[in-house]
Amino acid sequence: MSLLKIENLHVKLANEDIEILKGINLEIKSGETHAIMGPNGSGKSTLANVVMGNPKYKVTSGKIIYDGESINELSIDERANRGIFLSFQQPPEINGIKLRNFLFTTKQKDSKTSMIEMNKELESVIESMNMSSDFLSRYLNVGFSGGEKKKNEVMQLTFLKKKMAILDEIDSGLDVDALREIAKIVNEYRNSNNGLLLITHYKRILEYIIPDKVHILMAGEIISSGGQELAGQVEKSGYSFALNESKE
Ligand code: ADP
Ligand code: MG
Repeated sequence: MSLLKIENLHVKLANEDIEILKGINLEIKSGETHAIMGPNGSGKSTLANVVMGNPKYKVTSGKIIYDGESINELSIDERANRGIFLSFQQPPEINGIKLRNFLFTTKQKDSKTSMIEMNKELESVIESMNMSSDFLSRYLNVGFSGGEKKKNEVMQLTFLKKKMAILDEIDSGLDVDALREIAKIVNEYRNSNNGLLLITHYKRILEYIIPDKVHILMAGEIISSGGQELAGQVEKSGYSFALNESKE
């Protein structure tokens, strides 16, 4: 079943007449993991943000269909409630909001789980990730190391149990042990009902989280799609090889 389908999507900045995405087509079926690779500035984060409904961007044409319905007109909150999750490329530090409260408030928006149950679930998620429960009493991301911030993002995904996860450069700035640990958590999240869109610069993470499909995004267009081997070619020859291929 199709979980996320993007049809001929054109996107501009909301406040400027600059087109960033120029006709994106993408279909992620339930149970699938897709990777989007592309150089800096190619539009990867824009795509992620547009699927999440960030008002900084404006869809000028095309459709985003999630779970069989167009979500073009839905707000960020409505999309989140339906099960879409986007990790932050740079998780913001929020003083004054404790991680535990943030998670409970977010989860309560779309479930009727009691406080006691949520607490239990959260403790077990934290434990399964080898995270100290001290984190829960700290302000959101404040003073977290780069690796801890990324781990916190995937922890949220696990706790909130979203159906369609978009992870934007979850691997950037991680050493190999932290990367493995995060990959393990993400792989545990994957099941036949969920979808995963992994955005990355590097092939490395795709050795731990094996994608069903890889797409190369350049200058707002998907210029090549294929399997895992595509990531290997990028690593070997850079993105220009995909560009040459698409011209042939
Ligand atoms: P990527 O994630 O692939 O590095 P982005 O989606 O962040 O690329 O950006 C794509 C292009 O759109 C870049 O040229 C970037 O400068 C521009 N862009 C994205 N968001 C904004 C914004 N809010 N204001 C101005 N330019 C933006
Ligand atoms: Mg980006």
